[in-house]
Amino acid sequence: MERREDRCRAVVAECSKEAFNSGLDALARALKNWSDSRGGKRAGRPVGFPRFKSRRRTTPTVRFTTGTIRVESDRKHVVLPRLGRLKLHESARKLARRIDNGTARIMSATVRRDGGRWHVSLCVEVERVVPVPARPDSTVGVDIGVKHLAVLSTGELVPNPRHLSSAQRRLRRLARSMSRKTGPDRRTGQRPSNRWQRASARLGRAHARVAHLRRDSLHKLTTRLTREHRAIVVEDLNVAGMLRNRRLARHIADASFGELRRQLTYKTQWNGGRLFIADRWYPSSKTCSGCGAVKTKLALSERTYTCQTCGLTIDRDHNAALNLAALAAEYDTAGSGPVAARGADQKTRVRGQVAVKREPGTATVGQTGTVSPQGETTDRVLTRVH
Ligand SMILES: [Zn+2]
Repeated sequence: MERREDRCRAVVAECSKEAFNSGLDALARALKNWSDSRGGKRAGRPVGFPRFKSRRRTTPTVRFTTGTIRVESDRKHVVLPRLGRLKLHESARKLARRIDNGTARIMSATVRRDGGRWHVSLCVEVERVVPVPARPDSTVGVDIGVKHLAVLSTGELVPNPRHLSSAQRRLRRLARSMSRKTGPDRRTGQRPSNRWQRASARLGRAHARVAHLRRDSLHKLTTRLTREHRAIVVEDLNVAGMLRNRRLARHIADASFGELRRQLTYKTQWNGGRLFIADRWYPSSKTCSGCGAVKTKLALSERTYTCQTCGLTIDRDHNAALNLAALAAEYDTAGSGPVAARGADQKTRVRGQVAVKREPGTATVGQTGTVSPQGETTDRVLTRVH
């Protein structure tokens, strides 16, 4: 009994108390989510009871919230409790500059191992001036797709880099090589061989590289869009539903539609812009951007939109992007329409629904829709996230 206690104390002295607290904190949050979900206090999908997390299978991570967390004056090292002075691969000069002139304060530091490398992320409270987008009057519609990652209403095509597809051959080869080596086996108690462990690390690094490349190109795209345009309009895509399509799932996950929208949401806030999300049922592809006629059918294979009413011929995705951009313009001309608030789901994010248009002559209860200049025949609903 005594000996066990001694061992325990030795372990605590060696590693930071935060290592234990990170795990307990995560468990506490998981339990809270579970009980809130059961009690109906939490929106969204039902949350299950937290599962056991093995230290062998999860990403090693620890969050430091107390103690000395600082960036060294050489800007190449960071000091963390227990771990001490750590050399950084990237320079922390931008952060150090902000800390020096008092516009930033470090709240916590998270250390995590990802793809064979250790990363430290510093959570920082920053005082910043919200800039004005480079083109404060411009509105851009963004049609998200698989063929092109995004088609803008300006006519620009943003290619889909398809990082996963191009890495697929190498990933397959590495996985095959790993499968030929002696891995761990629970039933027989077989320990993994050194070769298996090396092969496993190689495969892990290859997967991490795909993730890093994808993250890089997404960040570049969303930063550029939000810095340039004041209003950005995207479709409300049912990503979870689309991932259930087995033929498309891999490509959709590789293009990471959901992440694109998440980044646009916070970056428009950072850059003084606005993000509009068109209703899921808004027929952006089926509507003619020239005359407003809506087709009843449009096969996915039809890459060019040809309007039977006005004879417009235009690229399918460009047409959709133009329609999305037009939605935001209508929202603006409609002014502050009746906003039926559905309750703020976050402090900074207010969601509201606004009926932008309705068919002339139809009685829509309690809405002050503007009369469509194009003879539109469908109601359009636009959700604004600000
Ligand atoms: Zn037309």
